[in-house]
Amino acid sequence: MTDRDRVVVAGALLDRGRLLAARRSAPEEVAGRWELPGGKVEPGERPEDALVRELREELGVLAEPLARIPGEWPLKRGYVLRVWTARLLSGEPRPLEDHDELRWLGPDETDDVDWLDQDRPAVAEAVRLLREH
Ligand code: C5P
Repeated sequence: MTDRDRVVVAGALLDRGRLLAARRSAPEEVAGRWELPGGKVEPGERPEDALVRELREELGVLAEPLARIPGEWPLKRGYVLRVWTARLLSGEPRPLEDHDELRWLGPDETDDVDWLDQDRPAVAEAVRLLREH
């Protein structure tokens, strides 16, 4: 990974027809906004491995990445956001790091939270997938 290839991975964690939303507790400019949990890929790390690691660290769960949601969305400082659908293999998500609340949202509830702007296209696609199943 180079300085021109800074990637943040996030998971659209799907379980029993619902999508997991996580409310950020920091930094101040995004505290209170909701996101798909994830974080920065480390140098040399595969993005799917980074996603598994971030979901373990932030939520205390073991998750399996399923498929990349097409597209990427610019973040600050040259980072881009890439999103995978993921399924829960074990554990019940808890807000261990970066978040102060979690919510499982059904397809008709996903507009109930104030998503970060950059997460909205991937959330819309995840909702479309939820409705298909
Ligand atoms: O979680 P972490 O602080 O490692 O995330 C790195 C950056 O990616 C932060 O600026 C965060 O706001 C952003 N991010 C995002 N959408 C996500 C996950 C992280 O914009 N779903």
